[in-house]
Amino acid sequence: MSDPRELYPHQTIALDLLRQSLASGKKRPLVQAPTGFGKTVLCGQIIRRAIAKGNRVCMLVPAISLVDQTVESLYRDGVTDVGVIQADHQMTDWSKPVQVASIQTIARRGYPDVQLVLVDEAHRVFQAQKKWMTDPAWAKVPFVGLSATPWTKGLGKIYDDLIIATTTQDLIDQHFLSPFRVFAPSHPDLSGVKITAGDYNEVQLGDTMNKAALVADVVETWLRLGDGRPTLCFAVDRAHAKHLQERFELSDIPTGYIDCFTEVSDRNIVRDKFKRGEYKVVVNVGTLTTGVDWDVRCIILARPTQSEILFVQMVGRGLRNAIGKTDCILLDHADNHTRLGYVTDIGHDHLDMGEKTTAKSKNKEALPKECPKCTFLRPPRVSICPACGHKPEPHSAVAEEDGKLVEITRGKGKNKNGSISETHIRIGGEQIPLPNFYQMLRYHAQRKGWSSKQPACAYKEVTGKWPPFVWNDRCMIEESPAMSSWLKSRAIRYAKSTGSKKQQAANHG
Ligand SMILES: [Zn+2]
Repeated sequence: MSDPRELYPHQTIALDLLRQSLASGKKRPLVQAPTGFGKTVLCGQIIRRAIAKGNRVCMLVPAISLVDQTVESLYRDGVTDVGVIQADHQMTDWSKPVQVASIQTIARRGYPDVQLVLVDEAHRVFQAQKKWMTDPAWAKVPFVGLSATPWTKGLGKIYDDLIIATTTQDLIDQHFLSPFRVFAPSHPDLSGVKITAGDYNEVQLGDTMNKAALVADVVETWLRLGDGRPTLCFAVDRAHAKHLQERFELSDIPTGYIDCFTEVSDRNIVRDKFKRGEYKVVVNVGTLTTGVDWDVRCIILARPTQSEILFVQMVGRGLRNAIGKTDCILLDHADNHTRLGYVTDIGHDHLDMGEKTTAKSKNKEALPKECPKCTFLRPPRVSICPACGHKPEPHSAVAEEDGKLVEITRGKGKNKNGSISETHIRIGGEQIPLPNFYQMLRYHAQRKGWSSKQPACAYKEVTGKWPPFVWNDRCMIEESPAMSSWLKSRAIRYAKSTGSKKQQAANHG
């Protein structure tokens, strides 16, 4: 084995913490290793130390497709005494002290004779792996989990310690990762999409996102803000991804496509074309969230999610540093940032114990807000846009222009029958889908103590129609800044028209 590399401080800290954890009797510690941490270097160190003590090690990966690249990265790190457990694999060699295997293969072929197991991508939990880790015969053998996103529900029932040596923000500050800028150019109406197993129902989400206007907006925005940057685009499903690819190609942007059915050889062709710049954009369906170290400088999020894990994994593909890279641009067409915050703000200091918790809504104050002028996402409590210098206008000025503020617009998208399917209201510079407009009215109504009928009345006053009754069962949405201004000006106008100072005081503010 070659000499161990010099470690970065955060890697040394992680190793020390891991050693302390094992020394204190923990057998199932999990190391949080964000993108850019240098996880394989850490693995190499752990493996070398184990081998030096005469132990055998199994490196467990969550899919057969990840076996070969794991072997490659171990090799690159100087760990070469490696065998692979997999049917008909040319590297099958039980005598090697390091065995790389997928959990699927282990489940079929039985447990290997090892004294340490490293579990890669440990946030992905499989029944077979759980069974192995809880098998009394293996209670004394350490399993060390590794994950950038160890936030899976119930993970604390399998692992007994969480080791956090550094954070994504630290890694950006220390130039191990690239900084990022976020733009939120469009806001899909997800009010009709059900939640299935903690995230948006994929079928309904696909229908919602795969609309002509939204897809066209992805391409237009990219041409405006992301042009020239090697770009990964995350789509909801295959139909959506294909549609995006076609639309990019229509604009003469060479675009690759990968999904979970893409053969490894074809995947490598796409990767090589991307690396040579022959593909500007690669659209994918959830397959490029792990194990990709391409030089990506723009990420398109066309996949709305409520999952912090999926969100952080998607954005993580754009944060690797590269020569000449100053930052990564995130084009969020999915409202993921206004829902979950910046990836640098996401983290948990303990493993989830799988207990039922009441859904904690994010503290809205702590979420980024969109600049109405350039769609740049401003950090919380920053009022002047760092990207374009836009300063929100004082509310009084807004009130005077009130007549111009509201405009009902129709999206470009048409449904199968050819009728117009997307209807928005334009308030200030903001396009708000009508269902969202209603939910903001309800939110405002609750806060201001309006009567239960008032949101519907206000909705009808503006749109000329009553809102569908079922909308009352959906989640309310906090007013956007433009909506706030409009509500305020509406209250002032109302107060003026009734001439009541009292009313103004009651509605205002
Ligand atoms: Zn701006």
